[in-house]
Amino acid sequence: MPAPPIQPKQPNSVFDLTLDDWIGWTEYHGHPKFRAKQIVQWLYEKRVSSFDEMTNLSQDLRARLAEAFDFTLMPHVRVTGSQDTTQKFLFRLFDGRLIETVRIPANANFHGDRSGRITLCVSSQVGCAYDCKFCASGLAGFTRNLSVGEIVGQVMAVERESGEPIRNLVFMGMGEPLANLTNLTKALEILNADWGINIGARHMTVSTSGLAPQIEKLAKVPMQIRLAISLHGATDEVREKIMPVNKKYNLNRLFEAIQTWQDHKKQMITFEYILIEGVNDSLEQADILAKRARSLHAKVNLIPYNTVEGLPWKRPGEEQQEAFVAFLTKAGISATLRREKGHDIDAACGQLRLQEETAEGTIERAMPEVKRSISSAR
Ligand code: SAH
Repeated sequence: MPAPPIQPKQPNSVFDLTLDDWIGWTEYHGHPKFRAKQIVQWLYEKRVSSFDEMTNLSQDLRARLAEAFDFTLMPHVRVTGSQDTTQKFLFRLFDGRLIETVRIPANANFHGDRSGRITLCVSSQVGCAYDCKFCASGLAGFTRNLSVGEIVGQVMAVERESGEPIRNLVFMGMGEPLANLTNLTKALEILNADWGINIGARHMTVSTSGLAPQIEKLAKVPMQIRLAISLHGATDEVREKIMPVNKKYNLNRLFEAIQTWQDHKKQMITFEYILIEGVNDSLEQADILAKRARSLHAKVNLIPYNTVEGLPWKRPGEEQQEAFVAFLTKAGISATLRREKGHDIDAACGQLRLQEETAEGTIERAMPEVKRSISSAR
């Protein structure tokens, strides 16, 4: 029998550690605690790319660090788009897997924020296990969680490439962030900390398909991050058809968890609702959605469905989309409908697909433009 393939061990990354972790590490190695502060200053304030540049640390400490930690950010295989448009970064991870991160300029971001802020849409897993029937990311199943350093590294790498700070972050790339809660929480701490990347907690949105117990856990993390729920159906009957997770946590259970979130955070949440023709776009659904949104004091973000090759779903006609949003607005719900031309932005988030490694190299199963860019990068 052939030996099973050996999984490479993930190196410890400098971007895996919080300040407390660094303090623990330096003290354990017999160095005073202020060294930890110096290390994070080099990493996140001065943005050096090697331990050699950490000139106020002793040679001995620098050598120890270099033995214990890997400094490299994931290399990007390819960047598509330009700085003024939606830009996709394809990163190669240490084990050869690929993930995508999307940089969205101010005029087109998730919050409709036109203040010159850039939003980054990050991935939290390689693949996804939740099997939403309309989504491209889950088509090839789940591979693994991203490490803390791989989540933080997406931001570091994009900032390094573009030279501009990221001010908004959405966890709407590949994967279910709440299924990777431990790493997500630590990454959020590093992203938010003033010693770290310093993105305001209110400018970070975690989007979930509705993992109720994890929503309750994250609610207790003392950070004013925002929550977006991928609802996509106003009744169990409709939601269940397109989101198998609803069989595990039905709407009652999900709403209980959201209530806990709001008890802790005292903030509005967002329902994301993709409009899919003939599935969830009736005014009957709009009516129930309005009641649900009102009961939880939620905003509704309507997204016309983006067709995915190989999947049967379609977006409804514009008239139906407008009727749906008008119904919600009339019912007193704060609702927005994405009307941007082209599918650039929508295609950016929630539509990232798993790439596959084969004997011939990396091929792409479903995102032709990435496939093209990989082959031209070779
Ligand atoms: N797993 C998380 C985050 C990733 S998906 C979640 O479910 O929220 C990010 C968003 O993109 C979700 O609201 C998802 O439903 C949406 N999305 C997925 N496929 C899409 C498509 N084809 N068109 C428009 N939005 C899509």
